[in-house]
Amino acid sequence: MINRHSALRSQFHSGSSVSIETLVLVATWFGIFAGLTEGGGLLLFQRINWTQWGRLMHVSKEVLWISPLVDLSFFLIVSLSVWLISRLSQRIPSIQVLVFLLTFLTIYDWLALTNRLYHRACLIMALGVAVAFTRWIAKREASSVTFWKKSTPWLAAVFLLTLWAIQGGKWAHEKIAVARLPAAPQSAPNVLVIVLDTLRADHLSSYGYSRPTSPEIDRIASQGVLFENAIAPCSWSLPSHASLLTGRAPSEHGMQNVQAMPWPGWGEKSLSGYPALGEVLRHRGYRTGAFSANRIYFTRNVGLGRGFIHFEDYFDSVGDSFVRTLYGREFARLYLNRSENSKVTRALRYLGLESWLDKDSEGSGDFGGAYGVRKRASAVNQELMQWIDRDRQHPFFAFLNYLDVHYSYGGPPGYPKPDWDRGTTVDEYDAGLKYVDDYIGRLLRELERREARNTIVVITSDHGESLGAHGLSYHGAALYRELIQVPLIISYPQQIPKGLRVAVPVSITGIPGTVMDLLADREPGVFPGPSLSALWKSQNQQTNWPYPISELAQTDIIVPADRVVEGKIPIATNGWMKSLVAPRWHLITHEKFGHQLYDWTNDPKESNNLIDSPEGRATALRLASHFNPQAKIR
Ligand SMILES: [Zn+2]
Repeated sequence: MINRHSALRSQFHSGSSVSIETLVLVATWFGIFAGLTEGGGLLLFQRINWTQWGRLMHVSKEVLWISPLVDLSFFLIVSLSVWLISRLSQRIPSIQVLVFLLTFLTIYDWLALTNRLYHRACLIMALGVAVAFTRWIAKREASSVTFWKKSTPWLAAVFLLTLWAIQGGKWAHEKIAVARLPAAPQSAPNVLVIVLDTLRADHLSSYGYSRPTSPEIDRIASQGVLFENAIAPCSWSLPSHASLLTGRAPSEHGMQNVQAMPWPGWGEKSLSGYPALGEVLRHRGYRTGAFSANRIYFTRNVGLGRGFIHFEDYFDSVGDSFVRTLYGREFARLYLNRSENSKVTRALRYLGLESWLDKDSEGSGDFGGAYGVRKRASAVNQELMQWIDRDRQHPFFAFLNYLDVHYSYGGPPGYPKPDWDRGTTVDEYDAGLKYVDDYIGRLLRELERREARNTIVVITSDHGESLGAHGLSYHGAALYRELIQVPLIISYPQQIPKGLRVAVPVSITGIPGTVMDLLADREPGVFPGPSLSALWKSQNQQTNWPYPISELAQTDIIVPADRVVEGKIPIATNGWMKSLVAPRWHLITHEKFGHQLYDWTNDPKESNNLIDSPEGRATALRLASHFNPQAKIR
């Protein structure tokens, strides 16, 4: 032993003779140790900073093996560089140099993941620790190398066990859940719900838009029923998605704002315990899956995972996994914001990593932090098809969220631009729609190729977008028509009429109940409200259909561009809002600023508030009596 130690010691003093194996060993130890701690830390600080939800880069448990993998790769590159330099200069004490660099990188990583300290403070502290630790190691190099040799296999085992437990656990959970599914009826159709996040109805050609933005969706509409006046229950993603899953108003399911996840996880506690469509279909023998490109507000973390055996939210690609780790975020913060002609941008293009430059608005980009890599319709489709191909025995319920229409607008870089696209905001918004429409067409053709069974297809959106109307740009601040009127198209060949258009205003919260009705599942009371099928079965229903209601809790996550109207028009930064759409009137009520009333049939832009006329006041009072006085919007 003594001989070996002295041999090692003499090796270190001669610098260059340190073998590459030893350097790789040290890098492996540091990489896995730093990464495992980082993964745990990212999950922990996400929970601690939960109230800042919209401004975080989000992770789920997979980060526990992704972080070590990224740190390991990065540290191995560092160790190879040190080895190469030590080959050039004989006098470099390569182990000490490597320990210094890796200690610095590890400590910086841990300090930065709190997201609470200044970068410069993290750098200085990491530098201090690295100097002290390297000095300490220099005095006991040989015993340290022995320690690394002995402990690295154990650390590697912990890493592999983590990877196996998380990925294997998911795989086993899914296998068992599918094996336990009850038998579905022989003729049970598949159910496909497609949400085009942020799509206002009036930008689809089938809703009268002048541009050919949606040929594929129009084709589906021609084969089914189109609701001309479908209303979303809220003007931003989280409350609306919770309503699409439960059929309940935001004040009922309670997901009016982001709720902190209970420490043991959501379990059955989310959505105020109301049944979700996935759960109900699962009990009827359906394999259920959610495929989300909205990684902030349609995820398991916010409590929308109930009923889905399979849920794809984070980590859909190498680029996406990378930017969710700490060094990935640092990379994104420093390099992915560069101009089109910067060296980094050109290098990424050259390396075929153009998709890394396709920025998502997710994360803290607007607040000086990193940006996420956008998940496009192409990726959502791919996930769905892989999932469908894994099992053909059970009918499926798939719930898709495409985020391509959402800000930042336009299709992915390199995708052909429509000929109307001259680069204005609206041109780009429409280009995003044309892109996702193409991919809906591709998806349905793939399904046709694979499936003999019928599929119920529902196409809708969670809310609209202002695009300049009422002085607003985005969504979530108010309840004007452009913010809540969304497409709703339902097709089910042979079962529902072709090409029918329904004019009466309806709420998209009717979707779960309608799906169950189409499956001839008449168990009463699971989902509220009359089934929308009544509207294509009988014209008489149109006269006394319940008025669709939208609710918007007070919020401060409104983007600065939309805050500029504060004080000019009532928005949700200083009180809750609710709205009701009747066949002619649109009533909007603000907690502090009272009613607004619009005649949307004659004034579709809602520019003329009629509340100050005697007729307007009387109409508003009559309509306001339809609001549920018990509803607590907050
Ligand atoms: Zn949304």
